[in-house]
Amino acid sequence: MFFMDASSRTTPVEIRQSSPTQLSIRWADGVESLYPVRELRLACACALCVDEWTGDSKLDAAEISADVRPVRIYSVGRYAIGIDWSDGHETGIYAFDNLRALANSEGAELG
Ligand SMILES: [Zn+2]
Repeated sequence: MFFMDASSRTTPVEIRQSSPTQLSIRWADGVESLYPVRELRLACACALCVDEWTGDSKLDAAEISADVRPVRIYSVGRYAIGIDWSDGHETGIYAFDNLRALANSEGAELG
């Protein structure tokens, strides 16, 4: 049985690639969030993709292929997943609280 505290919002119980272009995360509070994989690539917050001083994204969306795909998804500690991408980018780290915030900001929740 789940205990529903604040962390249930940012605790994934299932992460799967629901289609070639979509990642699905089901959270401990029962919400399922769907992420177009290219948007996740663009949302990468690693030091190569985000200026560590200004926090601005260094990615140019025009340079990210429309068919970019995750080739490997793995857990990073208890707080994040890492994704290796088909464009060769292998330092992507996505913290669960950032993923949850991303879903909320883009209206991706199915509720
Ligand atoms: Zn990155």
